[in-house]
Amino acid sequence: MTMKFHMPTRIVMGANCVQESAQLVQPLGRKALIVTGSSSAKRNGSLDDVQAMLAQNKQDSVIYDRVEPNPSIACAYDGADLARKHQVDFIIAIGGGSPMDAAKAIAILARQDLPEDQLFTGPYSEDVLPMVHIPTTSGTGSEVTPYAILTNDSIQSKSNMATPLIFPRLALLDARYTRDLPLTTTVNTALDALSHCIEGYLSIRSSPWSDLVAREGIGMIASCFAGLRTGQLDQPAREKLLYASMLGGVVIAQTGTIVVHALGYSLTYFKDIDHGRANGLLLASYLKQIKPALPGKVEAIVSSMGFSSLDELERELERLIGPRESILKPEALQYSHMAMKTRNIGNCLVQPNQKDLEDILFSSLNTAAS
Ligand code: NAP
Ligand code: FE
Repeated sequence: MTMKFHMPTRIVMGANCVQESAQLVQPLGRKALIVTGSSSAKRNGSLDDVQAMLAQNKQDSVIYDRVEPNPSIACAYDGADLARKHQVDFIIAIGGGSPMDAAKAIAILARQDLPEDQLFTGPYSEDVLPMVHIPTTSGTGSEVTPYAILTNDSIQSKSNMATPLIFPRLALLDARYTRDLPLTTTVNTALDALSHCIEGYLSIRSSPWSDLVAREGIGMIASCFAGLRTGQLDQPAREKLLYASMLGGVVIAQTGTIVVHALGYSLTYFKDIDHGRANGLLLASYLKQIKPALPGKVEAIVSSMGFSSLDELERELERLIGPRESILKPEALQYSHMAMKTRNIGNCLVQPNQKDLEDILFSSLNTAAS
């Protein structure tokens, strides 16, 4: 057997873990840049907790709170300017995948003069600000991945900075911050986490170890389906979702994502469909398509979720997703063509062709006459 597994992020989970981790943050330096979105961190208690922890450590901070969902390249350069101006020593990212990803790009750009055409390719030097990540959605797992995903208008999609240099130093997971997450965001982010686990399980870079993590995450998310449908999510359920989201990040840090994310990026860029929802829309069709080639793997996914058949899994996803968006034929052609050019396709255990990708889009979305 050959395998690799790299997870350098220290993970601490539990109520009050931010305050209780002050001594882990102390050595990171004198001044922090807090990278966050416009408002949620101010409402859910995470920003207060971070500021109290920094005060306890006698560490200064400056806030960059202009990260929008699906962050742009400009946002990363903007945050890096602030980091340089205030000569910060480290970064604390608070929020969903958007602030966490922006923070990773800022951690590099604050120290390295990288022009935009080298942002996603490097070469990067090892001079990167250390980061603490505090997720407040349960979806991306970005707190434990070496990826920063930014909207890239020059290719009308999202591009990925992928380097082990941007693994956060520390991830602090306190599910209390997700308590007031709107139900739609909770469902969409859970679908993203589920997609990470499933895609990782179906990647050529998967290993027995990443499979173990993936199946644990898949089962844990499925056990929350009823609560996700009804909105009845108590604290233990929210903890499960946050934990499973982190597991999904651990998985894709090893395996990358495959077809579902490759197609999902176009649904987000062109049709403004939320990232997690985009993946959730495509998952069942993808599994049906590859089942003849990988019956054992698909069966293992179904049984990890406690379902008796792929049809049952599809029905359960259907109930979470609700009415589906529409797609025109030229759109499906364009998105599948773009997805074929991504690195994700090379990660697939079953190599798709463009027609396969079109079929997934057509069977996942309502087809409107063009
Ligand atoms: P997000 O874009 O970070 O946040 C979505 C919305 O949720 C924002 O309006 C945010 O408000 C709000 N929000 C966040 N936490 C909240 C809370 N606790 N309570 C109430 N509202 C809250 O959403 P996301 O789905 O977590 O992240 C998606 C991004 O992650 C995409 O850009 C995707 O490409 C990327 N991603 C990255 C990886 C990776 O490995 N790096 C993996 C998958 C996806 P505020 O703006 O006010 O905070
Ligand atoms: Fe994702």
